[in-house]
Amino acid sequence: MNQATPITVAHGDGIGPEIMPIVLEILDKAGAQLDIETIDIGEQVYLRGNPAGIDDAAWESIRRTRVFLKAPITTPQGRGYQSLNVATRIALGLYANVRPASTFHPYVETKHHPDMDVVLVRENEEDLYAGIEHRQTADVMQSLKLITRPGSERVIRFAFEYARTHGRSKVTAFAKDNIMKLSDGLFHEVFDEVAADYPDLENEYWIVDIGAAKLADTPEMFDVVVLPNLYGDILSDVAAQIAGSVGLGGAANIGDSAAMFEAVHGSAPRRAGQNLANPSGVLTAAVLMLDHIGQPDVAARVYNAWLRTLEDGVHTYDIHSEAHSTAKVGTREFGQAVADRLGEMPRTLRPAAFGVGGPMPVIEASERETQPVKQTVGVDVFLDWNDGTAADLAQRLQAIAGNGLGLKMISNRGAIVWPQSMAGGLLVDHWRARFMGAGGSAVDHAEIVDLLGRIGGAGLDFIKTENLCTFDGRPAYSQA
Ligand code: NAD
Repeated sequence: MNQATPITVAHGDGIGPEIMPIVLEILDKAGAQLDIETIDIGEQVYLRGNPAGIDDAAWESIRRTRVFLKAPITTPQGRGYQSLNVATRIALGLYANVRPASTFHPYVETKHHPDMDVVLVRENEEDLYAGIEHRQTADVMQSLKLITRPGSERVIRFAFEYARTHGRSKVTAFAKDNIMKLSDGLFHEVFDEVAADYPDLENEYWIVDIGAAKLADTPEMFDVVVLPNLYGDILSDVAAQIAGSVGLGGAANIGDSAAMFEAVHGSAPRRAGQNLANPSGVLTAAVLMLDHIGQPDVAARVYNAWLRTLEDGVHTYDIHSEAHSTAKVGTREFGQAVADRLGEMPRTLRPAAFGVGGPMPVIEASERETQPVKQTVGVDVFLDWNDGTAADLAQRLQAIAGNGLGLKMISNRGAIVWPQSMAGGLLVDHWRARFMGAGGSAVDHAEIVDLLGRIGGAGLDFIKTENLCTFDGRPAYSQA
């Protein structure tokens, strides 16, 4: 007999406390070897005055077991509560969020995609979820989007390794590098570099807008899809929903030394306490967990029994239909139906294949061979200003420029407003003034600090600066 694997379990909020015991009972009956530690997280902890929704003892358990099966939680409305999901992913370094989405045609109604079988791999730690936001002026809020080379490389390499170990043939990336040439451009560039290491797998790249449209319309053309955080967040819900129901999807959040497994859906408070909710999302998450901790046979037993239950038409309200169902059941009865079918195989749905390629390798980003040569050639100074036209601002800034730095351009909401104006519409109180080294020469920090001193001294309110650099001679900043 296997030694029991210690795991941490949270029963969560809303429908969570109804679903989780049923899932644990199925795992137990299927022969899972688990040493379960139960923790409290979520609404009760938030409302006790803990803004993180999780206390130190719970963290201690998760950090020790490194395997966390989590029911959905409710984040109370109002400012000041931190997202427990984002905190857990970042604190444990869970950089890849894996969400399989497949249809169960003809047993679960789907709009028009009987052959859909995709796995979305979402980058889980960076992008706009770094949560670095500022109000810069009366009218303007800023959210920083951070895309890094090692962060992108790890999740993209994970997607290719996942495809290889799970018998899949193609990896597709979505991003928006026609607009975000530097940040999404980096994600695309790294995708192309990593793809070259996997000649046995097909690869393709789509701009996210048309890619999303195709995923919704013809999902059968995709296999594994890797995405930056925000696009992945949105599109994995779309994929789960068009596959049949958000109530079916499970997700794995994977890091080098820990993993968290959860349903795609939330705590559905309106459905709570009525024995209505579909436990399948947490169950399929638990199946991913069993595979991850080296109990693939148990994972397959549970998954096959679950497929057979769907085939037999035993359905909760969210997937029930007159045409496809034989019985409309509650949460408990659905769980019992799965437990009763342990050991059975699906009749026509593809049976599970777990543990096919062994455990996933630990994925490291590559060491950089040479450090690029960086040179500062100018500075963008952002100003909160509401006292006149672009020409007025330019006149004041030109009087201040000099000492190695010349005013090259002013923009408002990204559009040039000086020396020519390309802005046809609204102007706000948030201006960017671009200063460059005279004759393209390098600029040092002292010159920039000196310039800021003169800007402040002239009574202008600078709110931030961004240095303009070249890397190996290539400009590394956007043009207006
Ligand atoms: P939700 O996913 O909880 O529910 C949306 C709707 O989907 C429900 O009203 C219900 O009709 C259906 N649904 C969801 N899960 C179902 C299931 N298992 N069985 C049957 N039907 C199901 O989304 P929401 O209403 O936007 O969020 C509710 C709460 O959940 C919020 O507090 C939110 O912050 C939280 N949430 C938590 C997580 C998480 O813990 N991972 C994720 C998303 C949302």
